[in-house]
Amino acid sequence: MGWGSAGDIFDPVARALIEAGASDDLKRNLLGQLIDKLRDGDWDTEGESLEEFRDDPLIIALFRERGITADCGDQGGPEHADECTRTLGHDGDHVDDQDYSWPKSTEGAS
Ligand SMILES: [Zn+2]
Repeated sequence: MGWGSAGDIFDPVARALIEAGASDDLKRNLLGQLIDKLRDGDWDTEGESLEEFRDDPLIIALFRERGITADCGDQGGPEHADECTRTLGHDGDHVDDQDYSWPKSTEGAS
């Protein structure tokens, strides 16, 4: 049996740090330790928390360093393209399973 409610601890702490404008160092330190402790306690819904903070590059990196990843899923590709199948937080262009690729930044997209 996993420990699904660990996200009830992680999510509010992470959100509070973000809202307080905590530095990346502080977030990395505190949330890194928190993730490790929660995982020691058999946290098994890390993926849900990752989805919750999928816009925060540092949190994505912390999870990725621990082997927890999600699909990028970006849908801003060209016509006929599928959603991006690369790992959340990837570098470079989005790529789908048909080899369409498109740049990450869509500034000024009409
Ligand atoms: Zn992508």
